[in-house]
Amino acid sequence: MTTIADALASARKSPATANHSRVDSERLLAHVLGVTRGALYAHPERPLGDREISEFQGLLQRRGEGEPVAYLLGNAGFMDFQLAVDPCVLIPRPETELLVELALESAPEDKNGPLQVADIGTGSGAIAIALARAKPDWLIHAVDLSPQALALARRNARELGARNISFREASWCEGLADSAYDMIVANPPYVAVGDPALHPDCAFEPDMALFAGADGLSAIRQITIQVRRCLKAGGLLLLEHGHDQREPVAGLLSAAGYRNIKHYRDHAGHDRIICASQSSPAQRRPELKLRRQRRIQARTALSEPTLNEGRRFNSGNTTSPSPGLPPKSPLNEGRRFNSGNTMYGRSQMVWREGRSTKAGGSTPATRDATACADSCGKVAQRRPEVQLRQHHRLLDLEARHRVRSTKAGGSTPATLVISKNSAQPRNSGLESTLLQNDENQIRPIRQ
Ligand code: GLN
Repeated sequence: MTTIADALASARKSPATANHSRVDSERLLAHVLGVTRGALYAHPERPLGDREISEFQGLLQRRGEGEPVAYLLGNAGFMDFQLAVDPCVLIPRPETELLVELALESAPEDKNGPLQVADIGTGSGAIAIALARAKPDWLIHAVDLSPQALALARRNARELGARNISFREASWCEGLADSAYDMIVANPPYVAVGDPALHPDCAFEPDMALFAGADGLSAIRQITIQVRRCLKAGGLLLLEHGHDQREPVAGLLSAAGYRNIKHYRDHAGHDRIICASQSSPAQRRPELKLRRQRRIQARTALSEPTLNEGRRFNSGNTTSPSPGLPPKSPLNEGRRFNSGNTMYGRSQMVWREGRSTKAGGSTPATRDATACADSCGKVAQRRPEVQLRQHHRLLDLEARHRVRSTKAGGSTPATLVISKNSAQPRNSGLESTLLQNDENQIRPIRQ
């Protein structure tokens, strides 16, 4: 009669299992008996049937030939669950648990609906399922090129109750939408073909999940490029890589334009995970940023034709009351009113109140829009061509009704254009003029 204790003792002595751990043998026997490893210690005297003994010996033999325990058992532990695995998929490793933890920690907040996450090269579905279980409100997209792997991943997701995963048979980001993902994660193949350091047991795992060209970087090279298309601005890419690939992978990511590149070590102290973020469109295409800046400058110039006026009024060298108007530029307005050196306090107060009632907010953009509305009216604010037309009308007015400012001979060539209707260029009249007249009729202009 052979007991559990006898079977384990003979497994320890067998040359076939000499290179494998006691734990491997115990897991195999527990699997054959349908019990936990603990039960083997609790009932070492339990006798084994013939079928159990031969099944155990068959598994020991295969293990002796290098077949991984996970394939022999048909499952592997990952995070807090067991996944079905077979030789179509890579056996999930503890390093990849670190990738999941980092993904959960670094994910952007899901302010605008559920987070969209893709696991490219999902294999058994380990990463996708771990994320889906931890975050049932995320939408996870699991992609794999192998139909067999995908079928297994689907089965795993179903059995583990992970409902928020959709599956796609494709290569990396093929078929994924543009700029749609908050985070893309992958444990791609990263072993160099012929790497002598590869553990012999890996020979049982699928080549397509392990090997990536002569330098082990061919998959990561493709991924870094493809993921750029699919991530939202600020979205994250998290990748597992080889223990000696920190620098080349970081180089690929920064060459592709990713930002905030961060490295994380596995429990053995090797750099193993890299995280990087997608730059915004303006960061990616600096010419867009430049174009936007030019648009803003052009708009500001149109709505503020008195760029040199501030200097004139701020100089404080005007001695006689003048029908001077407050400056139009929001840029110099603060200085002007705060400096207190103006001689036209009252009218400026009125003018300022007029402005502030229209003021929409404190951001520069709002201030620009306010200035624009002041000078050209609300329609012009919406329709720049109206603003341009009005500006041209002003230039006409200038030609017809040019009045030099009272400080004749002053070095600053600012002039005031005052319409025929409102040409009472002194304090008393000015206030009411400012209040009553269409703003288009009174305009400081630049010569
Ligand atoms: N971590 C595995 C190994 O080095 C490789 C897994 C992979 O290529 N993604 O054996």
